[in-house]
Amino acid sequence: MVQLKFDQKVCASCRSADCLLKCQYITFAGHKEAHGEMMKVMKGKDSRVLTECVTCYACEEYCTRGNHPFYLISEKREEKGMFTAPRPITTQWKNMTSMQGKYLVGNVKDTALSCCYLPELGQLGTGEIFKDVASAQVFGAEFMCPAVHSHFARMSVIKERLPMVIENYRKLGVKEVICMHDECYGTLTSIASAYGIEVPFTPIYYLDFVLQRMKELKDRIKPLGITVAYQRSCSNRLIPDKLPVVKKIFQLIGVKVPKRKYQGENALCCAEIIRSVSGYKLADDVQKRNIDDMLAAGAEYCVFNCPACQTSLSEKVTRRGLKPVHIIDLCKMAIGEKEREAVS
Ligand code: SF4
Ligand code: SF4
Repeated sequence: MVQLKFDQKVCASCRSADCLLKCQYITFAGHKEAHGEMMKVMKGKDSRVLTECVTCYACEEYCTRGNHPFYLISEKREEKGMFTAPRPITTQWKNMTSMQGKYLVGNVKDTALSCCYLPELGQLGTGEIFKDVASAQVFGAEFMCPAVHSHFARMSVIKERLPMVIENYRKLGVKEVICMHDECYGTLTSIASAYGIEVPFTPIYYLDFVLQRMKELKDRIKPLGITVAYQRSCSNRLIPDKLPVVKKIFQLIGVKVPKRKYQGENALCCAEIIRSVSGYKLADDVQKRNIDDMLAAGAEYCVFNCPACQTSLSEKVTRRGLKPVHIIDLCKMAIGEKEREAVS
């Protein structure tokens, strides 16, 4: 089975320990303590990080020295049998995402449009923006990135399934896969690279594709003139170099994004996974702080990138007077393909 590439020497000599010092869910007195805890994790010793980590993925972004602290934490938890959620939840996730031959493959030639295992992505990947690739959609567990199992410290499931998913794409003969979910792009780039898994096609980030299409459709854009808060997904932490793409899209379609406390590196996750691994109290607190912050910034809309975040937070933001919308629907609004009132 493939193994995590983790450079222990880089960690041992690390002067920042930013992976843990910047963590928004575990508090450390300073560098000495944070670095000491990471050393314990690395050496397979007991560490409070192994019990307190809420699996937000953010330390993958905070470590700028090329190591993979979150994957390591998850590996060590699994080695020690320290699963993050009750066993029925962990097993349910494993079973409901197992490959059972019930997948859909459209008219795929060189390019596939990956809808992962999220039916909402099929509808989003339509219209003028996706007109040349909409018929090439693929959907199902056979094409689902297995990164979600890292939330449950089941890295073994990822190591077993990711090569199978890649092989399923390879059998389609594709040269490129447009990933409609950050988690898929993050899996095919960050996780595959961390585990030395070869990807024999080019993964394309869907917002890079959307930005390019919106530039081509510039003449049809009517600036929206609305104020939004952006809900960054946990999986965007695996691909932080892609965060600026969102800003470019907002600029192009005339959307204002006022500064707020929980944005960029300090973003709070949607908290539904936190609900599973750390309980209702913390999840409710994270969601409340996040929505309070969106409202304090003057946002009218809450813009999502991930359908799972949208499912988690839509009702809650709506109850507080914000309109939930996926970033693709926002682009469709800007080119007159979707009514403002129709988004939800
Ligand atoms: S994981 Fe990265 S940030 Fe954390 S101690 Fe190691 S090198 Fe430093
Ligand atoms: S995944 Fe999130 S909660 Fe866990 S250690 Fe990393 S930053 Fe902290």
